[in-house]
Amino acid sequence: MAEPQVIDLSLGELDLVDEIKELGGEELLECIQCAKCAAVCPMALAGFPFFNKRVIQAILIGSRETLLDDSSIWACQSCNRCTEICPRQVRPFEIILAMRRVAVREFALPTLTTDGLKSLFDVGHAVYLKEAGKSRKKVGLPEKPPSTLAHPQALRELQAIMRKTALAELGIIPMGEAEVAGSCEV
Ligand code: SF4
Ligand code: SF4
Repeated sequence: MAEPQVIDLSLGELDLVDEIKELGGEELLECIQCAKCAAVCPMALAGFPFFNKRVIQAILIGSRETLLDDSSIWACQSCNRCTEICPRQVRPFEIILAMRRVAVREFALPTLTTDGLKSLFDVGHAVYLKEAGKSRKKVGLPEKPPSTLAHPQALRELQAIMRKTALAELGIIPMGEAEVAGSCEV
């Protein structure tokens, strides 16, 4: 049996609670740690240490660095099962998203995330498989789906939006002028 973990609450950064509430996790303090959300969470099933209930617990005791050092929050599948099952309407998924916003503010991003952001900027899809066109063709679909891939103007608009966000100020992905050639009004 694992040794119980001793937590020194005096070391916690309790302003994290206010930050999370401000960034979309307004119902954080309604959580009673009942673990219903954990029982349905794919992250918990896959063995990530900080799934919904444990993220909330860590926020409540101000364990900012622990959460930022761990990649669990990026493994959330956005399935929203936790939101549906929570008896207190805490919306745990929104709290995961709020914690991601805190992480972005502090540059605590896993490489996989920056790859996704770069792909979003370059082609309009965070997850993009270069060979997908061939597979689509095989089953009778147009090689390019009716998304930014088939609509260059939409991609230019998306790039213009992204270049106006805080993401551009962070400079973690290249957003060069050449990639947004041509004017666009957004
Ligand atoms: S978020 Fe809801 S379901 Fe999850 S532990 Fe808290 S009260 Fe229970
Ligand atoms: S939305 Fe995220 S945190 Fe909620 S159950 Fe799904 S994977 Fe878990």
